[in-house]
Amino acid sequence: MLPYKATGNPLAAGTIVVIGVPWDRNSSFLPGAAQAPARIREALQAGSMNLCTESGIDLAVDDRICDMGEIGNPNDRTLFGLVQACVTDLVDQGARVLAFGGDHSITYPIMRAMAGRYDTLNILHLDAHPDLYDAYDDNPSSHASPFARIMEARLAHRLVQVGIRTMNPHQQAQAERFGVEIITMQDWRPDLQLTFSGPLYLSVDLDVLDPAYAPGVSHPEPGGLTTRDVLTLIQNLRAPIVGADIVELNPSRDPLGITTMAAAKLFKEIAGAMLSNAPLQ
Ligand code: MN
Ligand code: MN
Repeated sequence: MLPYKATGNPLAAGTIVVIGVPWDRNSSFLPGAAQAPARIREALQAGSMNLCTESGIDLAVDDRICDMGEIGNPNDRTLFGLVQACVTDLVDQGARVLAFGGDHSITYPIMRAMAGRYDTLNILHLDAHPDLYDAYDDNPSSHASPFARIMEARLAHRLVQVGIRTMNPHQQAQAERFGVEIITMQDWRPDLQLTFSGPLYLSVDLDVLDPAYAPGVSHPEPGGLTTRDVLTLIQNLRAPIVGADIVELNPSRDPLGITTMAAAKLFKEIAGAMLSNAPLQ
């Protein structure tokens, strides 16, 4: 179990603070992602796995990471404001944030907060989908649109997407408009190594994984990455990671817990990558 810290306690610079954002009202197809943060924590605490990264860091006893629990609740329509305020408070203290979604729309309020502290923020976005719709089903806050909002608001210096395999003409036009760098599944190579010289935010939509590895998502798209591919990509990242999220787990589609365990595993290695790459002060 991760050490628990209540909001308001002072944090050492670079501390990774885990937050849950139980939200799925911007899911266009299926609700369920609001239950994900609780399920991921259960998996981490179940005793079937330890909390060591593959590099040997024991997150259960490391005082550079702590859990602050959930922000708000799935029915709270002011949740985005709460998320932005909470993350702003954390990054103003020099902390880093690792968020459990929630549908992918939660990345936008997190990025609004992160961009307030880092003016040359890069984003690495792992996803089957580009999530660049101007609006989806008339909802500009849709989980299919967060990166359109982020790029319009100029919250990111670079947006690099990996694993994309659902591009359509509208989103292609949006990608060109925003200068998004895209490594599609057709371009994917297992030895891909990504380097970012400035602060990096890592956003992992679990449907970047092939449904064979992560069936418990709302929009499974065959032809994706293996769990190992994503772990290796994260372990090989050369970047100061200042924040991250793991989104789109849908427990209602994960009766065997396969996808939940994949999320828990990714959490450990993302935390490990954040701790191994020196934080910015
Ligand atoms: Mn997706
Ligand atoms: Mn997504």
